[in-house]
Amino acid sequence: MTAPFTVAIDGPAAAGKGTIAKAIAGYFGFAHLDTGLLYRAVGAATLEGVDPIEAARSLSAKALDAPDLRTPDVAQAASKVAVIPEVRAALLDFQKAFARRAGGAVLDGRDICTVIVPQAEVKLFVTASPEIRARRRLEELRGRGLAAEYDIVLEDVKARDARDSQRHTAPLKASDDAIVLDTSDMLVGEAIAKAIALVEARRV
Ligand code: C5P
Repeated sequence: MTAPFTVAIDGPAAAGKGTIAKAIAGYFGFAHLDTGLLYRAVGAATLEGVDPIEAARSLSAKALDAPDLRTPDVAQAASKVAVIPEVRAALLDFQKAFARRAGGAVLDGRDICTVIVPQAEVKLFVTASPEIRARRRLEELRGRGLAAEYDIVLEDVKARDARDSQRHTAPLKASDDAIVLDTSDMLVGEAIAKAIALVEARRV
């Protein structure tokens, strides 16, 4: 069994965390958990009328495979359920165990460095300006054939930033010992190369 090795990645919506996390996982052969999907699955359940705390307590792996978790409506619902302490508590053990599994793990979200794995071997805070993040999200949504307008996407990004960073439980913030990676002026390949180099440096 190899010792646990965790790469913890936090940052605001559409900063490129997911792309970087997947690339690191592929490069080093680590398991990857997009923790936003947990909150999205709970948010999606509330749109169907399910109580958020019940949804979080009974979340199954199958719910994370639902095809429509990546819509703007589900993203907003996710950030609303994410302020509820009981919802966060219900999702804690699964994430902590995933982070310390044998063979290495990468987790991306909002509270990975600060709450889930403060002992992570590598901590990154991936960010970019709201305008750049909105542009990227717009392209992603349109690429998936969804109708989207820049002004509305920017408003959504800002609303989620505000909700995620102002909540009482596990607010979005860079942990003091995280390396900040501002991808505003980077191409995707550059951001990935930089992140991989940072992980490599801690691997010895
Ligand atoms: O990362 P993603 O955009 O999929 O996350 C959706 C929402 O889930 C975020 O806006 C945030 O409110 C919540 N979230 C969280 N903690 C995490 C991951 C996501 O509060 N670790």
